[in-house]
Order: sequence, then C-alpha cells, then structure tokens
Amino acid sequence: MAGRPAATLRPEGIVQVRVPLPFSLKWVNSYLLRDDRGYTLIDPGLHTAEAEASWEAVMAEHGVAFADIHTIVLTHQHPDHYGLAGWFQQRSGAPVRMSAEAYAYAQRLWGADGGAAFKAELTALYARHGMPAEALATLGPHLDSFVAKVAPQPAVTFLEAGETVRMGGETWLAIDAPGHAGGQLVFYAPSRKWMLCGDQVLPTITPNVSVVPGEDDRQLERFLGSLRELARYDVELAFPGHREPFDRFAERAAELAAHHERRLAEIVGLLREEPRTGYALCMRLFGERIAGDAHHLRFAMSETLAHVFHLEHGGRIGKRGGEGEGSYTYFA
Ligand SMILES: [Zn+2]
Repeated sequence: MAGRPAATLRPEGIVQVRVPLPFSLKWVNSYLLRDDRGYTLIDPGLHTAEAEASWEAVMAEHGVAFADIHTIVLTHQHPDHYGLAGWFQQRSGAPVRMSAEAYAYAQRLWGADGGAAFKAELTALYARHGMPAEALATLGPHLDSFVAKVAPQPAVTFLEAGETVRMGGETWLAIDAPGHAGGQLVFYAPSRKWMLCGDQVLPTITPNVSVVPGEDDRQLERFLGSLRELARYDVELAFPGHREPFDRFAERAAELAAHHERRLAEIVGLLREEPRTGYALCMRLFGERIAGDAHHLRFAMSETLAHVFHLEHGGRIGKRGGEGEGSYTYFA
C-alpha cells in the first residue's frame, strides 16, 4: 500500500482501514464507526490470508474485539467489499446488512449453482460482442478464483434505499447508487455532511461502470443519473471504497460524468473511422493495459459495452450482425 498505514483514525473516531487486495487497486477501504454499543463495520474486504492478518493487527492496535462489532453494513456485493463479511459474522455474531438487489447479484455469482449460469451468460454476452475464444476461455477460471475469497458467505438482513440507519452515533440515509454495482447503497449523514460513497464516486480513479448479464443494460445512464443525484447533497467529507477520503464531492461527480462524455465521443469517433465489434473497441480503448489479465479484461469489456449500449439507446450508433451472423458490429 505504498507505505500507507493499515489504518488511519479519521474525524470523530471513524477508523479507515486499508484492507490489502491482490489487484492493482492495492486496497479497499473498510470503515469502523464507533458508538456507545461498539462498532458498525462497513465493507470488510476480500477474504485472503493477508487481509485476515491485517485486520487482526489493526483490531489489536485500535482495541477492537470481534464482539465489539454489532453491525456489518455492505455498500455493495463486489468481492473486494463483500468477501470478509461472513468471516466477520462468524466471529462477531453481527447481522450483515445489504440491499436485496445486491444480495441477489452475489447469489448469481456464488450461490447454489456455483455461478454456472452467470458464467455461461457472461461468456455468451462477450462472444456476441466479438471476444475471441481464447479470451472467453479465461473468464470461467477467473470467476471461480473468487469463490474462496468470499467464503464463508454471510446470512444477510436486507437494508433498502430510503431507510435510515444509526451508525457511529449518527443517522445515515441509505441512497440507491446504481451503475457501478446494481443495488449499491451509499450513506449520507446530514448532521455531519458526510457521505460513505462506496465505489460510486472515487477521488483519483474512475469507478468501473459495467454491463453484466441479468441486469439492465442501461448501466451508464443509471450511473450518470446517480452522479447527478448525489451531487445535490451537501458533502464536506466523502469516505470512498478506494483511495483516500476527500472533499470536492460534487465536483468529483461532475468530473466523472465529463470523463464518460469524453469516452462516448471517443467511441463515436472510432466507429466513424470503421465499424468495429465491442471487443475491437475495448482493445482499442484499453489495449496493452489489459493484455493477458482476465480481471482487467472483464472490467474493460463490460465498461466498453456500457458505453456502446448507451450510444445505441441514444441513437448515436447502430449495429449489424448477431443472431446467426456472428458477433455484432457497430457503426456510426
Ligand atoms: Zn465495486
């Protein structure tokens, strides 16, 4: 984590815990919010031996026992946030709260069928958009590699947008924040002007916006709408899922929206040069950065498709092919 401490004490006793990740993201932020009953734990991290060891050291340093954790709250179902929830639940007995939509997605990935239907649908989706067989073959093993990193799976109590929750002695409003992950919740404390923003607004990197099978394919539209909604909140300090807490929340939301507008224009330009499949666009946009890495390839491909579908819905590009004629080709 580039010399950063494993945990930092933030204002009003919030502990920001940097839980290590075996990806280029390097760490996910977990937060411990203290009240007179103990702690609410937000997004405990990915389940790896390194993360367990890091947590044990942080808890010892800050005098937190498992029994002190009375509630576990998940902003969303991505494995780097969700993975340790069951491990903490077993040790603390705390309820794990997340939205029903986010939980349903976790079940599609790691539920009773072991993610078999999801893997088949994802592979078929990418194949329709031109991904070659060699790259498609990496998806299943890649998805399977997460199963151990989200085990044991938690028993979940649903928490929905519009509800308020008490965390760290404050009242927080749960807000639906789609586009990065269906069913993601972010939390706003009006008395402090704090936003626990999950992966929806990140300070120095752009959150992945992803089309995934089984979800609405208008993910970019939903993401941009969410950014506009969140920018209306008066935020003095935002606590993100990655990188460091930040101010300029509304400005950052606007920057992210502008980034996607530029990317949309770039795609239209590429399609004016020549018709391309979604995969060809993905390679042109992300190219070298994702070569040979199934994790990056999946994020890049779903992000590309989110933009392509957005342009298609808006009538800015068209497509041909598909259904027996091979993969779709887009043109502008
Ligand atoms: Zn995420």
